[in-house]
This record gives sequence, C-alpha cells and structure tokens, in this order.
Amino acid sequence: MTSDTRKNVIIIGAGAAGQFCAIECARRGRSVLVLDHGPRTGAKIRISGGGRCNFTNRHVSPANYHSRNPHFCKSALARFTPRDILSLVEKHHIAYYEKDAGQIFCARSSRDIVAMLEQECARAGVEMRLSCPLSDVAREEGFFVTTKQGVFRSDALVIATGGPSYPALGASGFGLDVARQFGLTVVPPRPALVPFVFSARDQKVFHELAGISLDAAVSCDVKCFRGSILFTHRGLSGPAALQASLYWTPGEPLVIDLLPGTDVLEVLAAKRRSRMELRNLLAGHLPKRFAEAWCDQMVTSKPLDQTSDRELKETALRLHAWKVLPKGTEGYATAEVTAGGVDTDELSSKTMEVKRVPGLYFIGEVVDVTGELGGYNLHWAWASGFAAGQFA
Ligand SMILES: Cc1cc2nc3c(=O)[nH]c(=O)nc-3n(C[C@H](O)[C@H](O)[C@H](O)COP(=O)(O)OP(=O)(O)OC[C@H]3O[C@@H](n4cnc5c(N)ncnc54)[C@H](O)[C@@H]3O)c2cc1C
Repeated sequence: MTSDTRKNVIIIGAGAAGQFCAIECARRGRSVLVLDHGPRTGAKIRISGGGRCNFTNRHVSPANYHSRNPHFCKSALARFTPRDILSLVEKHHIAYYEKDAGQIFCARSSRDIVAMLEQECARAGVEMRLSCPLSDVAREEGFFVTTKQGVFRSDALVIATGGPSYPALGASGFGLDVARQFGLTVVPPRPALVPFVFSARDQKVFHELAGISLDAAVSCDVKCFRGSILFTHRGLSGPAALQASLYWTPGEPLVIDLLPGTDVLEVLAAKRRSRMELRNLLAGHLPKRFAEAWCDQMVTSKPLDQTSDRELKETALRLHAWKVLPKGTEGYATAEVTAGGVDTDELSSKTMEVKRVPGLYFIGEVVDVTGELGGYNLHWAWASGFAAGQFA
C-alpha cells in the first residue's frame, strides 16, 4: 500500500528534535509527516529531569558538548538560544524554575513540555503517525519509507530517532543503521551519562556503602566535575560521576578529589600532636562509613602523633586524588544518552543536511554531539531541530 500523497518532509522520530523540526518545517508551509514506532510522543521528555524535564540551561555553550568536532554545534546553538525555548515555554504559560548552574526545569511536570510540542505540531498542521513500526528507508527521486501502515514518500527525510540508550522507552539504533545504509561514517556509539561499575575487588569493598553520597570532584580526561557522587551496589553514580562518564575511555582511571576545596594536609597537620586516629578525624569531614572503608583500603589508620610527615603527605595526596579504575559502565539500559553517532563531517552545520545526500537530514541525539548533564541534551535537540526546520 503506497500513500498517494507525497509529503514535502517525513520526519522519523517524534521525540524532542523530531517534533521541533516538524513545527518549524510546517510553519514554513511544508507538508510534514512524523512517524514513530512508539505509542506516545516525547517518551524521553516525559521521564527527563526526574519528571520535571530539565529542558535547557541558561549557560548553554559549545564547551558543554562532546563531539569529534567540537566546533560543529556552534552554528545551531548560536541560532537557537535558551531565551528562544524559554519564550516558547512562556507563551504556553508553563511555569519553570532555575536550579544550580543554570539548569531550567518545569515547575509542574515534564508533561507540560510534551503538551506544548503536541499543540504546536497540531497548530502548524503536522500529521503524526504513532505506533507505526518502520521496516525500510529508500531513496529514488525523493525518499520512500516503508512502514506497517503503508509506504510514505517525501522530498526530504529527517532522521530524529535518537540513540540506543534507554531501550525500555523505545530507543533504537535505527538512525545509525540508516546512516550506514547511506554510506555515512558513524562515530562508534557508547552509553554516556551513565553510572560506573567497579572492578570485582572494589565492588567487594565498597558495595556496603550503597546509598552513601558525598561532595567530590571527579576528573576524567581533561575534564573535572564538582558535585555529588553516590555509591551504588555495583559502583558509582551521582551527577559528578555521570558527567565524567561522557569523557571516560575504558581502561582509564577516574581521579576523585574526596575533599575538594579543603587543604587536607593543613587539616591533618593541625592534629599532628593529637592521639586521634586518622579514620576518626576523616569521619568529621566525610561520611563515617566511607571514611572507615576508605582508610581500611588506602592507609594505615593510626594515631596522628605516630604518623610520619611523609605518611601525612601521602594520605593528603590520596584523599585529593583517589584513583579508581572502573570495570565499565551500566550500559545502554540506564544511560541517559548515547555518545558518538553520525559523524558531523558528513553534515552541514548550518542545515544538518547530509552533504553527500541532498534531502537527507540527521538531528538530535543521533548526531555525534552529546551534551553534559544539565539540560544541554534537550537544548541540542531543540537547536538542531530548529536548524534543519529552516531548510528541510
Ligand atoms: C532517564 C533520562 C533522563 C533524561 N533527562 C534529561 C534532562 O533532564 N535534560 C536533558 O537535556 N536531557 C535529558 N535526557 C536526554 C534527552 O532526553 C535526550 O538527549 C533527548 O530526548 C534526545 O532527543 P531526540 O529527539 O534526539 O531523541 P529521542 O527523544 O530519543 O526521540 C527519538 C524518537 O524516535 C523514536 N524511534 C526510535 N527508534 C525508532 C524506530 N526504529 N522507528 C520509529 N521511531 C523510532 C522513539 O520512539 C522516540 O520517540 C534524559 C534521558 C534519559 C534517558
């Protein structure tokens, strides 16, 4: 069954990027069809930000994005700013609030953002087909998309299917398969913004600390993230650890400053003449159970007046630079995003169109542009969707 009406634009994926692009295309008078295999739009938006959707960040900048080409995102981010999404949100009378580091959340529920996108799509005349599994995409004088609901044709095709992280919400590697089908380079995908899994040895030592969190600074590659870390049964989570996972390469250690902003040597030296044990002193600065477990593994805890200067220095150094070598991460099942994706060299940074395949566009998370935690990924979805929406 082939649909006899050919659309100007077919967009695959009714998530953040796909719907935003659809709105922009339709506002330009293009006929637009959005296809999604899931039963609802914006599945990830609904659960994002713990149900409050951290939909942008006041301080969005290219420096918050990881990509093989860190310059690629600049053009789209410059043309769609946090103020632009806030204007739309305000037009829909959606209350929001700002948290640390410029993160902007819905005051009520992420469903407000979902409803906003659905209303804007309906107002602009976008046709939406949900619960519509796709089997094939082909190009021949335009594009053909074969689905369970029929074959649809279009002049332009926009792939907005995100990455394979969080498959429970309908995520798939479909977009990457389409990229490969058209001969495009794909930067190897990997789960990111994801908890770390400790080695078997570290799990044995630290699993009893599950639930304990502390303020730390986690360094990985050239990046350092200050924030909370949370011990889990299998490893390490919490905002600072999740951020580090975006920059982590398997086999590399994490370097964790357990007392950032504190001169540990000074703290230890101040008790130099005391009979207090190191573990008891540290329990005043770190969660007690963690201080005990850490001391058991890393140092010999003895009264401070029996500790040499060299031992004190070494202890201070270890507390400021605790090296942990993770075995891996929790993987796609719980990763907030997929890093890697369609190589940005294949795309125009102005339009998101594939340079070698006129009419084919990739937007959102499927592209090798991954934001840090804090509203940057949804902002990339809006900005890249907006960019493609001016041209597709
Ligand atoms: C638990 C969680 C919390 C998050 N919280 C935040 C947050 O607070 N702030 C933030 O900025 N980011 C957050 N993110 C990341 C953010 O949700 C994504 O980066 C963003 O939604 C990506 O948008 P997208 O449109 O590219 O892809 P998606 O939103 O993933 O949309 C892709 C769409 O394509 C559809 N699709 C996939 N495969 C197929 C296929 N084979 N056929 C047809 N349709 C298909 C899917 O059903 C989906 O509707 C979170 C992610 C998760 C998992």
